[in-house]
Amino acid sequence: MTIASVNPATGETLKTFPADSDRAIEEKLEKAAVAWKVWRRTSFADRSQRLSRAAGILEARKDALGRLMTLEMGKLRKAAVGEVEKCASGCRYYAENAERHLAPEPVKTDARRSEKRFQPIGPVLAVMPWNFPFWQVFRFAAPALMAGNVGLLKHASNVPQCALAIEEIFREAGFPEGCFQTLLVGSDKVKRIVEDPRVAAATLTGSDGAGRSLATAAGGQLKKTVLELGGSDPFIVLPSADLEKAVQVAIAARVQNAGQSCIAAKRFIVHEKIAPEFEKRFVQGMRNLKVGDPQDDATEVGPLASKQVLDDLEKQVRGAKEQGKTPACGGKRVDRPGFFFEPTVILDAKGTKVWSEEVFGPVAAVVRARDLDEAIGLANDTQFGLGAAAFTQAPKETERLVDELEAGQVFINGMVKSDPRLPFGGIKASGYGRELSEEGIREFTNTKTVWVG
Ligand code: NAP
Repeated sequence: MTIASVNPATGETLKTFPADSDRAIEEKLEKAAVAWKVWRRTSFADRSQRLSRAAGILEARKDALGRLMTLEMGKLRKAAVGEVEKCASGCRYYAENAERHLAPEPVKTDARRSEKRFQPIGPVLAVMPWNFPFWQVFRFAAPALMAGNVGLLKHASNVPQCALAIEEIFREAGFPEGCFQTLLVGSDKVKRIVEDPRVAAATLTGSDGAGRSLATAAGGQLKKTVLELGGSDPFIVLPSADLEKAVQVAIAARVQNAGQSCIAAKRFIVHEKIAPEFEKRFVQGMRNLKVGDPQDDATEVGPLASKQVLDDLEKQVRGAKEQGKTPACGGKRVDRPGFFFEPTVILDAKGTKVWSEEVFGPVAAVVRARDLDEAIGLANDTQFGLGAAAFTQAPKETERLVDELEAGQVFINGMVKSDPRLPFGGIKASGYGRELSEEGIREFTNTKTVWVG
């Protein structure tokens, strides 16, 4: 099997890599097991120094690393550089805070001394997606390594160059051999790796289908998993909202990363009182977006990451058209080499697949709601529960939205985003477990109860 890196802006194959042989996989698993025995005994100060060095390397090479991301999966140049910077700040966050997050917690009991301790659990397999090829990996690796675990990365098959570049950063930052390794393998090898006794736990960021498959394999071995899966985030606009701001954020939230983000706003639920004005401005804004070369800083929407993503999106939009929905703008692939799709808005989208399925591309589904009750009902009427955004100036509405929206994170008057200081994750088919913040670093630790009489 070969693993190919293809430029989605042109369709040209950039590089191919032979997949790791069974023997190479075996060697990496063994190295991870050996490395963990030493790494788990290192001090927080030692780990922190190395992770800070990794942050420095990311900052120093942000342009070159960003360019690699743009070439390999089509992310806009500026966003790619921003992603590398975010990885550096994520590393610094855990370099500075891990010791505090994992400090033993004394608990008063009948014992002379009793406390909770947080200890590493071993090599963790991370199966990662291509859409944020650096950030997804660093937000797993920084806390996992600081906690004293070691990492095995199985990255998405279309970003092998990013995967190898990340491994190189950890090596250069001084992490001992085996602490962080990239496995160049297809998804068919994941079951075998997760079942290997040397692998203690696993995490997967990706589609719910891939998550179910990993969780089944891990569950068979009673191994812990953290799953960050798909989303179909609602974006609610109520009459008291600052309409111009809501429109601007709605566009940005839908087309970030060419619409290929788990927490992109995908279903727009607009109160009927303001719906005509919102829809007019939203469609206008989406229509005016400049689609093109991701290296050009004037471009606002780049290509989709692969032909498969483009084909899937086109099928979903075709389905809506067949159900009689004429796109208010866009609606088809762009006639040029590479994998481009026009920014598209489908109004009155309820009942179509662009409403009920996760849509990974610059296609927005809009539905009107009579009142807040109906808006919340529509928002929750999905198998997913990742993020949710709502625009309102009314405190009572804010409280109801925060309380009743079924999601891992609710953002009021802002776009859903991840932040190392705040936990990130989903409910329902969007997965379980949390990344980032204190919750994230504790996921791959053993909370050990200590009782001394
Ligand atoms: P994907 O097809 O599920 O792939 C994600 C990763 O899982 C890849 O490394 C893939 O390997 C692997 N994989 C695929 N099928 C597998 C299986 N049956 N068993 C084990 N591993 C398997 O998802 P994607 O298209 O790359 O990414 C898009 C999805 O990720 C969307 O649903 C998006 O919402 C979700 N996502 C979620 C979050 C979050 O934090 N919740 C963040 C980003 C993305 P191969 O590439 O070799 O197939």
